[in-house]
Amino acid sequence: MLTASSELAEAVVFFNQGQATREMLWSEFEAILDAVVPMMEFANSTAHAVYVRINSKIDVAAAVFFSISYDADGRADNRWNIPLQQLADSSARGPDMGSGPILLACYSQCSIAAQQKNLWDPSMDPKINTFAQLRKVIASNRLGLVFEAEEVAAISAPADFDTTGLQQEISKRYQQKFEQELRSRMAQMMKEQRLRIATLTHQNEESTQVLQHNNLQCVDALRLQIEQRDSCLKVLEQRNQVLKETIVGQNEKIQGQREYFEHKLESRESDGQTSIKSMQDDYKLELEAKVLAATAELKDSLQMRDFELIYRSEQESVLREELTTIQAENQSLIANNGSDLLGSLSDAGLSFVAYHPGAGHITVPVKDIKRYMASKQLYAAETCGVTMGHYQQWLSHYHRPVCAALTSKGDLCGARIAKNMDPREFHVGDDDRCAGHQTSVSRAFSLDGQSLKEC
Ligand SMILES: [Zn+2]
Repeated sequence: MLTASSELAEAVVFFNQGQATREMLWSEFEAILDAVVPMMEFANSTAHAVYVRINSKIDVAAAVFFSISYDADGRADNRWNIPLQQLADSSARGPDMGSGPILLACYSQCSIAAQQKNLWDPSMDPKINTFAQLRKVIASNRLGLVFEAEEVAAISAPADFDTTGLQQEISKRYQQKFEQELRSRMAQMMKEQRLRIATLTHQNEESTQVLQHNNLQCVDALRLQIEQRDSCLKVLEQRNQVLKETIVGQNEKIQGQREYFEHKLESRESDGQTSIKSMQDDYKLELEAKVLAATAELKDSLQMRDFELIYRSEQESVLREELTTIQAENQSLIANNGSDLLGSLSDAGLSFVAYHPGAGHITVPVKDIKRYMASKQLYAAETCGVTMGHYQQWLSHYHRPVCAALTSKGDLCGARIAKNMDPREFHVGDDDRCAGHQTSVSRAFSLDGQSLKEC
């Protein structure tokens, strides 16, 4: 594109992290603003860019350091509206970028106060000097700027001119020009230094702000943590309180129950004692009454027995008297005719046979008839070769074979036992006992030799 030498070309240079990354003509930037061309490298961020005016020497003549935001799709914020041309026109001077001091608008040097927040400060650090980078990018002219050739006006001196006067005039003018140039250079340098100081101050302010912001965030985070801990603590304290109250309540409940049961137990015990006492009293009375009744009954029956006994003994004495009389009569009868009769009967071949348990059939000779008749059992005992008492005990066992031992209560044991058929083989205290009582008796005998000897 051909531009008149007197005109200035317009372009935009983008910076990313302090480095110039892309440059474009103003018309291209307008396409970006119209969201025709997206810039994906700046999606979801705010880009630093510089609006520059370039003269025919391909030097920067004006620069405006502005910011522009992009959405997630890399499209420029449609509300973006910074009056770049107006800012450039109204700006103060900045550093010399080849064709004298440029017009400069940045955060630290802004002619429109409302726009300051939309501008940024170039870095004047020698390592990443923004102006040096800008100058290099523009000088490379990748934008392909072409300006028309400048018409150089020829200066011709008049022919008739005083040489000395001219030299003096020239010398004087150069002197003035030099002084003027020097002054403007000095002023320019001072301006540059001021700008540098301003940008450094701004940087410091920014870093201070960042630090303050970070500190505030830290403080906020700590405060939040403290608040959270406090609330946690409160919750725990409340829970603790609730638990304490629960424990106290349960303790009271347990205490109450304990008291209730103790009271109940006490009343039960006293009830029990009274009821036992009354039962004991009742039982005592009942027992006494029973004992009295039983005693009366027994007394009655004893009396009856006494009467019976008296009556029996009277009867017995009467019977004894009768028996004695009859025996005497019998003896006299036997003495008179019996022996003769018995002798003649024996002579006739008759014999007298009697049966007795244990002794079997006994043939009683005539001479023993008298003794036999006097006591048949004694006769049988003598026949067996045992005493009368032994024979009677055996006979009792023979008729009723039961255990004759007494139990601890004093009753007769009465257990059935084997019948001993032979009075000679019959041992009192052994053959008339059941197995249980036999053993105890045997033991008693073995322990006490005296009783064995006596038996
Ligand atoms: Zn027994």
